[in-house]
Amino acid sequence: MASEEKILRIALPVKLRRLFDYKVEEGRAAPPLGSRVLVPLQKRFVVGIVCDVSDTSSLPDSKLRPIKKTLDSEAALPPALFDLLNWASRYYHHPIGEVMQAALPTKLRQDCAIEPVVPKHYRVRKEGLSALSQISARSHVQKRVIELLANAGAEGLSARDIAEHVSSGASTALGRLVKLEWIETCDPPALPNVEAGSSIELNCEQLESSLTIARSIGSYAPYLLEGVTGSGKTEVYLDCVKKVVAEGKQALVLVPEISLTPQLIKRFSANIPGGLAVFHSGLTAFQRHQSWWRCRQGAASVILGTRSAIFAPFCRLGLIVVDEEHDLSYKQKEGFRYSARDVAVKRAQMSKIPIVLGSATPSLESLANAGAGRYQHLRLSTRHGGSQMPRVAVVDVNHQSINEGLSAAVVEALKDCLAKREQSIVFVNRRGFAPVVSCAACGWQAMCQRCDARLTLHRRSQRLICHHCGSQSRSPEACPECASSDLFFSGDGTQRVQEALAQIFPAARVARLDSDITASPHRLTEILTAVNERQIDILVGTQMLSKGHDFEGVTLVCVLSADQSLYSVDFRGPERLFQQLIQVSGRAGRRKRRGDVLIQTAHPNSEVLSRVVQHDFDGFAKTILTERQQAGYPPFARFALLRAESPKPQAPISFLRRALSASRTVAEIESVEVFDPIPSPMERRAGRFRAQLLIQSVNEKAFHLFLDEWIAILESLPESSRVRWSVDIDPQDMY
Ligand code: ADP
Ligand code: ZN
Ligand code: ZN
Repeated sequence: MASEEKILRIALPVKLRRLFDYKVEEGRAAPPLGSRVLVPLQKRFVVGIVCDVSDTSSLPDSKLRPIKKTLDSEAALPPALFDLLNWASRYYHHPIGEVMQAALPTKLRQDCAIEPVVPKHYRVRKEGLSALSQISARSHVQKRVIELLANAGAEGLSARDIAEHVSSGASTALGRLVKLEWIETCDPPALPNVEAGSSIELNCEQLESSLTIARSIGSYAPYLLEGVTGSGKTEVYLDCVKKVVAEGKQALVLVPEISLTPQLIKRFSANIPGGLAVFHSGLTAFQRHQSWWRCRQGAASVILGTRSAIFAPFCRLGLIVVDEEHDLSYKQKEGFRYSARDVAVKRAQMSKIPIVLGSATPSLESLANAGAGRYQHLRLSTRHGGSQMPRVAVVDVNHQSINEGLSAAVVEALKDCLAKREQSIVFVNRRGFAPVVSCAACGWQAMCQRCDARLTLHRRSQRLICHHCGSQSRSPEACPECASSDLFFSGDGTQRVQEALAQIFPAARVARLDSDITASPHRLTEILTAVNERQIDILVGTQMLSKGHDFEGVTLVCVLSADQSLYSVDFRGPERLFQQLIQVSGRAGRRKRRGDVLIQTAHPNSEVLSRVVQHDFDGFAKTILTERQQAGYPPFARFALLRAESPKPQAPISFLRRALSASRTVAEIESVEVFDPIPSPMERRAGRFRAQLLIQSVNEKAFHLFLDEWIAILESLPESSRVRWSVDIDPQDMY
């Protein structure tokens, strides 16, 4: 091939772990690394990212195709982000093309301008208003559009807003109305300005932490901020963020999926007037693109977002905060299985900036890092305003009768709380009415057809729902096996507990909060507001409401069953339970009155529970870390999980057996342990059979070298095309 022509090595949105070679368009210079280009791939065009420029290609010149066009004049992915993504692809052994895609908003994964086009708004003119009465019934769409615009006033509405309220024909109607000069286009309203919040004076511990962090602005410095629930970690974040912004830099604040509440957004926007952008899964494609662009241009000085915001395109990042750093929602569970917390630490290191990992119950990984001196450990040991930590008591459910999941002690405590006109929260670990539906005559149980799991009864909707695959069916009136009508429901879900409480306390206002309810964001806000305004006495919910919420009037928290996680198949079960219990307890007594926490359990003497009663997270963590060290488990060793699934029962295991024998040919096998393949704990899920194989190593370098070579072999195995398989680095769930 001609040597003066440059070869572009491009990451394409495909599952292959390699780059693809193309020629530059004729007569053009090579675009910078990180730019988007449109290229032909088989019979279509796709958007790829330029990852390398080279003088030579292993392909013959006749096979090399030129790119179709360069989409960005300036790289879409700024250099620091581009480097981070390359690192992430290597670390997670995930196809580079998919990793690069993760950093682009959906709009930019297409042949679309890098700058978002803010849609024009329409507003009604007075001619339109006076014409309203003359519009014939046949033009009801035009009529409706004018009505909508009349209601919207001077700001008007976008075509998209209007389309949401009109069944069809909105754009034709808009065109016609503009022509008639009954409506006109105008600029969309500017982003709302939030009034500045009253400033809070930090207490001693908060101030010390904030000053320490601020001193390291401009250099890599990781901090673990361990602060009991209600100690005011958020105030520390805000203070540091303000300092970073005052120096003209940007800050990234990551929060878990469920704690990104309107309350929190308000708290941040009040402190960062005008300069906040949010990133989360609830945004529209356009809003996402807009946040991304404001971050890229530096117009937003603070990004508040969930997991994927770790790949936001900052131009002058100065600080990263990861709130509730132990939270599982930071780990992506499918596709590109990254941990946003771990990537955040790497990003801070590469960008030479401070990072704050905050939690009341830090992950063992972070505690071990702090213990080894890799992170500086900061503590907030008291709740703000001197409110005390709640009293935690265990209710032994072994020798007493439990009604609808409620022990006498819990009912008594709720009664007292009501009498004092205080609020309480009751945690139940399952949504729906009852998790077990069985026949008294023949023993039949309602099982999911597609999973190895029972169906949960949702009584309001009269449906049996599988919480693993979402399958639904009508709840039967008689047993499908023996036709007996003697069906009974055991176990307690949120609906059942809510009904029971409403019966026991007819005068109380009982509400429920679980993912069935929060499927509508509007309902979620409504309930949270009602709780804050004390219009609710008892709130029944799943652990989704354990985090982040700051309810003033709650003084009692009851946990109906803590036992499931105690004997979980996952080695992290006890750790998770501890974190959950501390988080839920943290909702009690956050103000003047001391709170009470009651935990029902059949194992009152377990190590976890006795440590929880004493609020002894440090002691608990030390014990567990010692056990992990002895067993050679994370964080003292690296894990990778090779998972496989298929509708054919035998296929996953036979692929994994081949993978196991292939591992013996890899050079680093001496430093790595490869376990035998096993069926996953829930072997069948959504109609697919699943199996897994664990890799363990204490030698990080050898671990990655091993994986590189082994995965390349796996890709070439004929068995690998017969199953769906994936590699999970640092897996958080062992199934
Ligand atoms: P955490 O994130 O540690 O659970 P928050 O930051 O939500 O705690 O603080 C709990 C409550 O205490 C909040 O309402 C917060 O505004 C208040 N608070 C925290 N620190 C202070 C302070 N220094 N002055 C006044 N109020 C504070
Ligand atoms: Zn039966
Ligand atoms: Zn199912």
